[in-house]
Amino acid sequence: ETALNAAEASQPALNAFCAFDRDLTMTMARASDAKLARGEGGLLEGAPLAIKDLFAVKGVETTASSNILKGFKPRYESTVTEKMWAEGGVFLAKTAMDEFAMGSSNKTACTGHVVSPWRAEGSDKGLTPGGSSGGSAAAVSADLCFGATGTDTGGSIRQPAAFTGTVGAKGTYGRCSRWGAVAFASSLDHPGPIAKTVRDSAILMQAMAGHDPKESTSLPNDVPDFVAACGRSVKGLKIGVAKEYRVDGMPEEIDALWQQGIDWLKAAGCEIVDVTLPHTKYALPTYYIINPAEASSNLARYDGMRFGQRVEGADLTDTYEKTRGQGFGAEVQRRILMGTYVLSAGYYDAYYLKALKVRRRILEDFENAFEKVDAILTPSTPSAAFALDAQFTDPIQMYLNDVFTVTANIAGIPAMSVPAGLDASGLPLGLQVITKALDEETMFAVGAALE
Ligand code: GLN
Repeated sequence: ETALNAAEASQPALNAFCAFDRDLTMTMARASDAKLARGEGGLLEGAPLAIKDLFAVKGVETTASSNILKGFKPRYESTVTEKMWAEGGVFLAKTAMDEFAMGSSNKTACTGHVVSPWRAEGSDKGLTPGGSSGGSAAAVSADLCFGATGTDTGGSIRQPAAFTGTVGAKGTYGRCSRWGAVAFASSLDHPGPIAKTVRDSAILMQAMAGHDPKESTSLPNDVPDFVAACGRSVKGLKIGVAKEYRVDGMPEEIDALWQQGIDWLKAAGCEIVDVTLPHTKYALPTYYIINPAEASSNLARYDGMRFGQRVEGADLTDTYEKTRGQGFGAEVQRRILMGTYVLSAGYYDAYYLKALKVRRRILEDFENAFEKVDAILTPSTPSAAFALDAQFTDPIQMYLNDVFTVTANIAGIPAMSVPAGLDASGLPLGLQVITKALDEETMFAVGAALE
C-alpha cells in the first residue's frame, strides 16, 4: 500500500504510470502477506512490480501507450507477467512507453511525456528517461518499485536503463516469451527486466524466463541459474572490444567510460582481446528496414473492429482510414509507411530481402567473435539522457540512439546495460555486456563485476 501511494503521488512529477488497479494490487499483496506469514513464498514474493504497458495484465487497460488501444482490457494474462505472479510478484501499475515501443525518448506516449527523476547538476530542465521502456526505467530509478518489465526491440530496455542509472537486461531471443505482449517487430522483440542491481535483474529474469508452449519462438531450453551466475568469478574470462563501436563523433566521456570498464574488468582478472565486427555499420539501416516491415504487418490488426478505439466513417474503408489515421501517432504512421514500402512487390528484394542477408552477416560477425571471447564490452549509448525539449530535426537523429544496442537484437543474443558512472553534469552512463546465445550466465557474471 505504501508503494502504491508513493507511485500515485509521483505522477505529477514523473508521469511514469498509465494505469493503476488498487483492488488488484491489494488482493495480490494480501495473498503474498499470507504466504509470507506461513513461511512460504516465491522468488518475488511481495515485491511490487511495474509492468510496461505492452504486457497484457488481465482486466487492466493495456494500450501500448496508443490511442488506438484506449479502453482495451485483455481477458488474458501475458506469459511473462503470469510467471512473475506465480513467483509472488505484486502488480503495482502499468508504465507508459513510446507508442507501440517505437522510440527512444518516451515522448510519444498517449498519456504524455514521462520525466526522468534525474537532473543535470545546476539545472532543473526535465530530461527524458529514454525509451521505449522509459516509464519502467523512471519508476525503478525513483525507487517506486522493486523492478519492472520492459521490452527491447532495438535497445528499449538498455537505453532507458543507461539514462536512469538502472540495470536493464534482455536474454537470448525466445528466452522470455512474447505471448501476451503487444507485437512490435516480432523477430526482434525481447521482453526483459529493469532493476536496481544486476542481482535483482537476474532474479527478475529468472522468474520471467522459460519455455512457453503458446509461443512458437519460445526457447525449449532449461533456464540456467541466473542468480548464482551473479556471484561467479570472472577471472580468466576473455572480454572483446570491437573497434567498430568507436563511432564518429562519440563524446570523449563515452570513450573514457569504456576505457574505465576495460580497466575494471582487467583488475578483476579478465583478459581484454580486440575483436572485429565488420558489419556493424550496416546494423542501423538493417534494423530500420526489418523493424518497420514487421511492425507494418503486426499493426495491420488495429482496424477498429477487434480492439480499442473505432472512429465510425461513411463506410468500412472510411472507418479503417479514420480509425488508423486518428488512432496512430506520427512515428507509428511513419513505420507503417516505411514497412509497407520495403515489403511491396517491387522493392521486396532490394530492401527487405537484402536486410535479411545483412542480418545473417551481423550474426556471423558475433559468432566469429565469440569463438575468441566470452563477452563483448561496449558503451550502452552514445550520450547521456537528453532534455525532453531537445529538438530533433529529423527522425534519423533519434534512431542514432540505438547505434550500440540494435546489433544484439538483430543477432538475438543476450545483452545488458549496467550503470557505470556519471558524466560531467552528473547524469548516469551505462556500459553494455553482450554474450553469445544462451549464455546469459556470463552476461550476469560480467555485469556484476562491473557494478
Ligand atoms: N528506439 C528503437 C526503435 O524505435 C528501439 C525501440 C525498442 O527497442 N522497442 O525502434
